[in-house]
Amino acid sequence: MRAAIVEEIGRISIKEVPKPTPGHEEVLVKILTVGVCHSDIHMVKNDWVKVPTPFPLGHEAIGIVEDLGPGAEKYVKKGERVILGLGGTAGAYWCGACEHCLAGKPMLCAHRKQLQGVFAEYFVVWAKALVILPDEIGNNDVPLACAGLTAYSAIKKLSKFGIHAGKTIAIIGAAGGLGHYGVQIAKALGYKVIGVDIGPEKLEFTKKMGADVVVDVNEAVKTVRKKFKLGLIKDVSASVVLASKVAGFELGLQLLRRGGVLVAVGLPALSEGSFSVNPFGFILRGLHITSCLVGNIEEMRELIQLAAEGKVKTHIGRIAKLSEINEVLEELEQGKIVGRAILEIQ
Ligand SMILES: [Zn+2]
Ligand SMILES: [Zn+2]
Repeated sequence: MRAAIVEEIGRISIKEVPKPTPGHEEVLVKILTVGVCHSDIHMVKNDWVKVPTPFPLGHEAIGIVEDLGPGAEKYVKKGERVILGLGGTAGAYWCGACEHCLAGKPMLCAHRKQLQGVFAEYFVVWAKALVILPDEIGNNDVPLACAGLTAYSAIKKLSKFGIHAGKTIAIIGAAGGLGHYGVQIAKALGYKVIGVDIGPEKLEFTKKMGADVVVDVNEAVKTVRKKFKLGLIKDVSASVVLASKVAGFELGLQLLRRGGVLVAVGLPALSEGSFSVNPFGFILRGLHITSCLVGNIEEMRELIQLAAEGKVKTHIGRIAKLSEINEVLEELEQGKIVGRAILEIQ
């Protein structure tokens, strides 16, 4: 079977590799579509954690269950259409019994296994990490597996800080893969949304996704303050930073009202360095900073339900073949793709 393999840093090759066989509680999935995530760029460039080459790529997929390993029949049947990945981290295994797993945070489990390598014709996966898809979800909705899940989990977190429906939140990176889901999910959950992104094309798209107000990143602080003074918007209770730029975190903090919450989601390249917080302003303004690293399987099921009801739609900016993966990653890195890029595998 064909699979995308990072043989050397910066370059992916399509190789012929053996078709895998499912083991205990594992399933062989025939991959139909895969989503290309920003983190794939960082993996290929090796600008996050260093991963030794060669390694396979991809962590968002929809496919058909083709074969079952022993014990997998308890969870899924042959022929069922499934979504897999769970954002990569813990997408392949979690113990289910530690304090993190029991708190709904398997991504922090010491025994978690990362899911990586769905840019291939077949993939073997742990049956418990699969969500069976209803007919309303199309194969092109595959970016729900990571981008959608991560945005959903980040916005769901707001209620833990008392930020409920009706409050105003800013979504930074609103036109991106995560952002376009974030805007729709926040609207579906009843928030007022300020969509922040760059340039007229992306702002127009953000408006189309349902944002109440859209602002350009370069004028965000000024515009948000002006609109607030004029009584056109309420002050910002939370900034959800979905863009993977350090500047996005700093902007997110600046936009917040007193007592506001910054939810850090987008992972910038390590070379971008850190964002700084002035303790004086931070304490006096009573701010909170939290983070969100993908989501869990129950959140995946909830999101699939929202999408099946038509409340969250996937916007695909580019559809390509597996062989075009290098070009797609380049376009994604240059910010040329509005929404998400997917690859059709079969
Ligand atoms: Zn991802
Ligand atoms: Zn665990």
